[in-house]
Amino acid sequence: MVFTGVSGSGKSSIVFDTIAAESQRQMNETYSAWIRGRLPKYEKPNVELIDNLNPSVIIDQSRLGGNSRSTVGTISDMYSALRLLFSRIGTPSIGPASYFSFNNPNGMCKTCAGIGKVMDIDISKLIHEDKKGR
Ligand SMILES: [Zn+2]
Repeated sequence: MVFTGVSGSGKSSIVFDTIAAESQRQMNETYSAWIRGRLPKYEKPNVELIDNLNPSVIIDQSRLGGNSRSTVGTISDMYSALRLLFSRIGTPSIGPASYFSFNNPNGMCKTCAGIGKVMDIDISKLIHEDKKGR
């Protein structure tokens, strides 16, 4: 789902206060009364109807922080569930859930050490081959 608009037009309000809150409220209704009593309470939004919502994962708008290993998956903790899922259903099996972690030596890319990018110097951009020997 994508929301666009000029600054101050209410994008965050409709996303966080109405749609995400209603999604959480509808999902919480599927749990037993015992569990619902322990979940955050969401008021029904003041609209006629919102339906066909998918379960939402609410991630605030602040930057992910200085850690370049932080991703939507790690801060929402979905990453742990996905690692477990891949380790259990992957065929052929490559090993335990830690093998799917870019923070674990067994799971990380050997080239970038799990960062996802590589800093390197292109020598050809520094040396003008045509000006050699002058
Ligand atoms: Zn890599």
